[in-house]
Amino acid sequence: MRLTLCLSVLVLCVARLCFAQDSAAAPAANATHIMVVRARVLIDGTSAQPRQNQEIVIRGDRIADVYAAGTRPPPAGAEVLDLGAATVLPGLIDCHTHIFLQGEVPAAGGYDVQLLKFPASYRVARAVVAARRALEQGFTTIRDVETEGAGYGDVGIKQAINEGYIPGPRMFVSTRAISSTGGYNLEGYAPEIVVPKGAQLIDGPVEARKAAREQLDHGADWIKVYMTHRSWVDEQGALVSQPTLTVEELKAIVDETHGWRKKVACHAYNGIGLQRALDGGCDSIEHGLELTDAQIAQMVKQGTWLVPTLAVYYHDPEPPDTPGGMRDCKRVAVHGVSFQKALRAGVKIAFGTDVGGFPWSEPIAQEFPRMVEFGMTPMQAIQAATSRGAELLGKRGELGTVAPGAYADLIAVPRDPLADINALKNVAFVMKNGSVFRSTLRPAGN
Ligand SMILES: [Zn+2]
Repeated sequence: MRLTLCLSVLVLCVARLCFAQDSAAAPAANATHIMVVRARVLIDGTSAQPRQNQEIVIRGDRIADVYAAGTRPPPAGAEVLDLGAATVLPGLIDCHTHIFLQGEVPAAGGYDVQLLKFPASYRVARAVVAARRALEQGFTTIRDVETEGAGYGDVGIKQAINEGYIPGPRMFVSTRAISSTGGYNLEGYAPEIVVPKGAQLIDGPVEARKAAREQLDHGADWIKVYMTHRSWVDEQGALVSQPTLTVEELKAIVDETHGWRKKVACHAYNGIGLQRALDGGCDSIEHGLELTDAQIAQMVKQGTWLVPTLAVYYHDPEPPDTPGGMRDCKRVAVHGVSFQKALRAGVKIAFGTDVGGFPWSEPIAQEFPRMVEFGMTPMQAIQAATSRGAELLGKRGELGTVAPGAYADLIAVPRDPLADINALKNVAFVMKNGSVFRSTLRPAGN
């Protein structure tokens, strides 16, 4: 009997996986479909402690109930999916991705070659792969913070995912991003040549507001702005970054975006640009490499989020004896300290990686051990990528939690992530919207 049940579960898994691969994943499970997922260990994204032996009832694309196994009979007609000894968590949320970046290395033409030589179709094809990579690794939701010269490509990919044509995470998109003249790549070309830019460049509050309106009109869920651009180490050994938008320009963008009930993410390293980001009313500071105590206090007071993206700055540093290498060393040196101070002060921190800045072939979860290295407990790091990420996205209770009413986004890992956070690099089961996308777990009893 038990063997039969296990086999039937296996067949169901295989059938659903085949469906997922053939049809590129339905956008949501059939609304009448009822499933019970058995979790030996459940980290629900919000509770301080894991819970043992839970059953998660899923109706269509939502979680209907969560309770201790055996305390209630399963609903009539429910498909039972026992995930064995694995640890079950909510689908993960990466609040800082770039599906249109591929971790370009200078030897292969770096950033510029994408905008100058690659057909848009090639970039879209690779972005489709990147979206799939996110989902495979258990990231069922991403906030993709600009397309790097690929226009509104993220809007179309999000639509294709939502309509079930391609597999991928739930996407919050920010389209083109906004910076100022002299505030973004491509640069360094002869002034007589007009080259494409990786962001929409504006000057003055009127142009700033117009750019925000255009981007919101064309489907941006968030507006992304660059508040700093170039960075270097000065004669005193301090990290300096060039500010871009003025406070007045940012205020115009924030005012417009908040009017649409949407939010503004600000790339800001440190110094004047970061201060302008805070004074202009930015909703999330991206990177925040070097935060002063006063800036941390301002973030706490204003409720500004920090999305630190620690791991990406360890990639491909330039040679240490060059100006670029000195900058790369300094960035890493100040970043961890800032993160620790912000964490201690109670700044709201959400998980973000800047993946795309490093190749999509690498584990996105490499950010987790960096967060733990700099002072988070494994549970805090997990919550940064679940309930806290959901809060940043304005989806508290719907995403990043395993609780009644939430979307049925679940993952499972064979090893305990609270014992070793690196366990999150090996996600063996992914469900999004109640549909199983991937399962390499052995069925229970086998
Ligand atoms: Zn980024």
